[in-house]
Amino acid sequence: DQDVTEYQKSLAIRVSGFDVPKPIKLFEDCGFPTALMGAITKQGYEKPTTIQCQALPIVLSGIDIIGIAKTGSGKTAAFVLPMIVHILDQPELDKGEGPIGVICAPTRELAHQIFLETKKFAKPYGICVAAVYGGVSKLDQFKELKAGCEIVVATPGRLIDLLKMKAVTMVRATYLVLDEADRMFDLGFEPQIRSIVGQIRPDRQTLLFSATMPYKVERLAREILSDPSRVTVGEVGM
Ligand code: ADP
Ligand code: MG
Repeated sequence: DQDVTEYQKSLAIRVSGFDVPKPIKLFEDCGFPTALMGAITKQGYEKPTTIQCQALPIVLSGIDIIGIAKTGSGKTAAFVLPMIVHILDQPELDKGEGPIGVICAPTRELAHQIFLETKKFAKPYGICVAAVYGGVSKLDQFKELKAGCEIVVATPGRLIDLLKMKAVTMVRATYLVLDEADRMFDLGFEPQIRSIVGQIRPDRQTLLFSATMPYKVERLAREILSDPSRVTVGEVGM
């Protein structure tokens, strides 16, 4: 309706997709459980950033998303907060093996940052987060994955290695995030991404975030996302 469109305009958000939920104004509008709200407050987040205002209600509705916004816009919380809710929604959470949420990021630095942010929101619930990336002992990561976790944050190459070693299975994975998709392509990770996606059930929820949207990323997005909503904040390069 008119009010929603005006609000999206005032946020400088462009949105496309079918039945896109309207943007929220406050974290309180998301219906987050108490301990998650507590963790948000503890982080010093008073209100959602622009991308979070529109992405949170979309992702919480279970809709696939392509989120395009520049670095520093708060994309991490836009995928981590709904991921916590998604995990808490799983019946018999204590059963089964392998991660429910899988996050792929282009570099170990980025994966580590996401790992740290995710842990803050996962901690109140005892949700276990594992980080797997190069430059660290593969054996340690093998053991960590074998011990079990609900979330894995990974660089594509190392995750593939560990999947081949059967350190981890994707049977339980239903929430996949591809963060900084453009950079993953620039670094040549397209085959690894395709391989990982191919091991995750097709009825998963898929989220793709990128600062730019070159054609090759667009093409992958069309292949691996189902009826995604697209949220663009600001001007975007190709
Ligand atoms: P991006 O992934 O878009 O580059 P990040 O998720 O890394 O951005 O967030 C950038 C910075 O903004 C981080 O320091 C993060 O803690 C902070 N941040 C994220 N969301 C909020 C918020 N709602 N309020 C205040 N700071 C936030
Ligand atoms: Mg980011």
